[in-house]
Amino acid sequence: RNLTVPRLEFIVRYFTAGSMCRRFTLEEGIPFNPPYAEVTLKDDIQGDPLISERLCIMKGLLKEGQYAEAQDIVVRVGEVLKKELASLGLTLIDFKIEFGRDANGELVLADELSPNTCRLWDKKTGERMDKDRFRRDLGRVRETYEEVAERLHNVLK
Ligand code: UDP
Repeated sequence: RNLTVPRLEFIVRYFTAGSMCRRFTLEEGIPFNPPYAEVTLKDDIQGDPLISERLCIMKGLLKEGQYAEAQDIVVRVGEVLKKELASLGLTLIDFKIEFGRDANGELVLADELSPNTCRLWDKKTGERMDKDRFRRDLGRVRETYEEVAERLHNVLK
């Protein structure tokens, strides 16, 4: 379907990780219970700032009610993902998804799910199994992505 995708990222966190730890002086791996949802504006120059419902509406990015609707969807998506990944020995730390709006202005999930868009830690070893391998120069980037793909393929067989 042809969609207009506002430059918004809907994030859900189950554990602290990444730049938020630097910004708020937190250790990585502290659990959020219940999960912690955030909405950010995709704007590299501004460092992807948090954005409120009112500003999304003011900027014409979302209609009334869609901020909460999208947050509700992303939390439900996360529940499914977290369980499935746990069965593969992977802990879902956080992830983001984006939404589009169709010709009627209705919200439609419009994104990929991959180790590029979420943080996955191996349940046993705590090893990073996602984009942080590349960003932190941890090595074995390709091998780790292949390992995630293999675990997924095995479960889909
Ligand atoms: N994320 C993403 N694309 C972005 C920003 C974030 O896929 O442009 C994902 C990121 O991989 C992580 C989650 O969203 O799984 C939360 O990212 P965070 O806000 O912690 O930013 P980061 O520390 O990755 O800069």
